[in-house]
Amino acid sequence: MDVAGKVAIVTGGAGGIGAAIARRLVAADAKVLIVDLDADRVAATAEEINAAHPGTVASAGGDASDSATIAEWIAQAESTFGPVALYFANAGIGGAPGLDLSDEQWDQVIDINLLAHVRAARALVPAWEERGEGYFVSTASAAGLLTQIGSAGYSVTKHAAVGFAEWMSITYGDKGIRTSCLCPMGVDTKLLHPDEGAEDAIGKLMQSAVETAGRVLTPEQVADDVLAAIADERFLILPHPEVLDMYRHKGADYDR
Ligand code: NAD
Repeated sequence: MDVAGKVAIVTGGAGGIGAAIARRLVAADAKVLIVDLDADRVAATAEEINAAHPGTVASAGGDASDSATIAEWIAQAESTFGPVALYFANAGIGGAPGLDLSDEQWDQVIDINLLAHVRAARALVPAWEERGEGYFVSTASAAGLLTQIGSAGYSVTKHAAVGFAEWMSITYGDKGIRTSCLCPMGVDTKLLHPDEGAEDAIGKLMQSAVETAGRVLTPEQVADDVLAAIADERFLILPHPEVLDMYRHKGADYDR
C-alpha cells in the first residue's frame, strides 16, 4: 500500500515505537490520529509532530482495549482527516514473570496485548471490506514467536497477537485487507528501561538480550521496517534476527 494521502490510527502513540511510526507516516504524507492511555504525553507528541508538519496529526487519550473508545477514535479520525485506511494496534504492556498474576492482571494483559487488536479489527473490517482496502498492523513481539521468554502474561498474549494477525491475513488477504505483524525485540523505548526498582521482568530480559546481541534497535529503525513491509505488503517483520538466534539452542520453532 502507498500510505500517501491515507489516514491512520496508531495506538500507544505517545512515545517509543508508536510515535516513531507516526512520524514516518507523516513524512510519507499520511495523516495520523495518535492515541494513548497517557493523554497528556500523546497530546505533547502530536504538538511536536505538528510543529514540523502542520495539520498532520491529531491525538486522543483512552484505553485501546475499550470498544467504545475505539469507535470514538475512528469517528474522530474520520471527521478530522477522512476514512481510516490503516490501524496500528501497537499499545502493549509487559507483565510479571510467572503464573502468579491476579485475575485482574491477567485480564489486563490479555485485554491490551490481544483483545485490543481483535476489537479494533472488528470495528474496522466491515467498512474495509466495502471499500476493498484496509491495512491492519499488529505490534506483537519476538516473544510472540518464542516461548522461552520468561513472562507468562507477555509471551502468551503476544503469541495470541501473532495468531490473530495470521488469521486476519489469511481470512481477509484476498479481500484487499492486508495485515502485517511486527515482532521486534530490544528496541530502545520506555519498555526497555523499567523504572528504577520496578519489578519489570520484560525490561530486564530485553536488556540482557540486547547485551548478548550486542546492539539495540532504535524505534526509528523499527518504523522504517514497518513502512517497508506495508509498501511490499509483507506479513511478518523480524527486525532483530540476531536476537532470535540466541534462542536457537533452546529448540524454538522460530522458522515458521
Ligand atoms: P512504550 O512503553 O514506549 O510504548 C507503549 C505505549 O502504550 C505507552 O505509551 C503506553 O502508555 C501505551 N499503552 C499501554 N497500555 C495502553 C492502553 N490500554 N491503551 C492505550 N495505550 C496504552 O514501549 P514500546 O516499546 O514503544 O512498545 C510498543 C509495542 O512494541 C508494545 O506492544 C510492545 O509490547 C512491543 N514491543 C516492544 C519491544 C521493545 O524492545 N521495546 C519489543 C517487542 C515488542
